[in-house]
Amino acid sequence: DEFLSLGLNPQLQRACTAVGYTKPTPIQEKAIPLLLQGHDLLGIAQTGTGKTAAYALPILMRCKYAQGKNPRALILAPTRELVMQIHTVMIGLAQFTDLRILALYGGLGPKPQIQALEEGVDILVSTPGRFLELYRKDVIVVKELKFLILDEADKMMDMGFMPQIRQILEKIPYKKRMNGLFSATFPEKVENLSHEFLEFPMKIEI
Ligand code: AMP
Repeated sequence: DEFLSLGLNPQLQRACTAVGYTKPTPIQEKAIPLLLQGHDLLGIAQTGTGKTAAYALPILMRCKYAQGKNPRALILAPTRELVMQIHTVMIGLAQFTDLRILALYGGLGPKPQIQALEEGVDILVSTPGRFLELYRKDVIVVKELKFLILDEADKMMDMGFMPQIRQILEKIPYKKRMNGLFSATFPEKVENLSHEFLEFPMKIEI
């Protein structure tokens, strides 16, 4: 199977089949092996290319099992809709694992999200604002984060999230972290962010 040959395990390959992915898209073919090898990645790709699964599958593969209480992966996205969409993709792909994946966004009270965090979570998908809000309440512990993805970075910058992104990046330990930055366009400001945020990244343009 083509997903197995990219380095994924049988649970994830089965999940790909279950959600209807028969073969990897071009960005998945390129990104999955690189992320599994631990490279930082700069992906210039539109929605519709399969970019979500391109980073979700390696993260699920590397996290593997539910473990402890604190998140090991954080995916930041600009809007509640996108966070919900990424969360749905990840839940589908994680269906044969026991990984706990939580979506954090504003627009409703934080109580259920706080409760879920306290029960333990492996992967967080969040808007920058809600992440910082809960971090300041001391309900998110970042010291075990090993994977960080900024999705739709151009949109996050256009929406004015840069100060919040910077604050989040400052809090997260850098050592041995794997980073991915995805953007539909690649203006200078995104290029500057990529220099700040990524270490010797591989660049993929679809
Ligand atoms: P994205 O670019 O991540 O927003 O994905 C766009 C759509 O493509 C989503 O509905 C995915 O479920 C779907 N998709 C992603 N990867 C594949 C694949 N390998 N085969 C078929 N559909 C896919």
